[in-house]
Amino acid sequence: MQKILVSACLLGCPVRYDGQSKPTHHDHLQRLHARGWLVPFCPEQAGGLPTPRPAAEIQEDGRIMTQCGKDVTTPFVHGAELALETCQKERIHYAILKQSSPSCGSNTIYDGHFKQRKIPGEGMTCKMLRQHGIAVYSEENLDELFATLESHP
Ligand code: SF4
Repeated sequence: MQKILVSACLLGCPVRYDGQSKPTHHDHLQRLHARGWLVPFCPEQAGGLPTPRPAAEIQEDGRIMTQCGKDVTTPFVHGAELALETCQKERIHYAILKQSSPSCGSNTIYDGHFKQRKIPGEGMTCKMLRQHGIAVYSEENLDELFATLESHP
């Protein structure tokens, strides 16, 4: 059976920094969920950060900082490593990660100045998964993933 790692917040789990979730009701995601293919995972929680937690953004030098200037790079890296470990253990080749998060973003991230400005970039977990050959999608391109899965069942 195919398995896909998915950001837990996209499935409605209240794991985001603000204690909320970001459920997506996209048909394709519901379909994959109904097939039992989805493996929910939150890298920031897995990495040891509490919920709720201060918002954090990736800085120009690659570190991940909260708005108060606390360096939280280490738990973000740890969460990314655990996400990779889960993929390797479960033979997962695809992931659906929440766009723009400093862990899960796959095309965009926030610019590091806490001004709600997005720039092109990848979150820590997305980057690590891609470096190890896992194809990362987001809630914004589920059609593309679904087409890929249908052509390579
Ligand atoms: S780290 Fe990823 S899964 Fe966890 S709340 Fe943020 S976007 Fe969602």
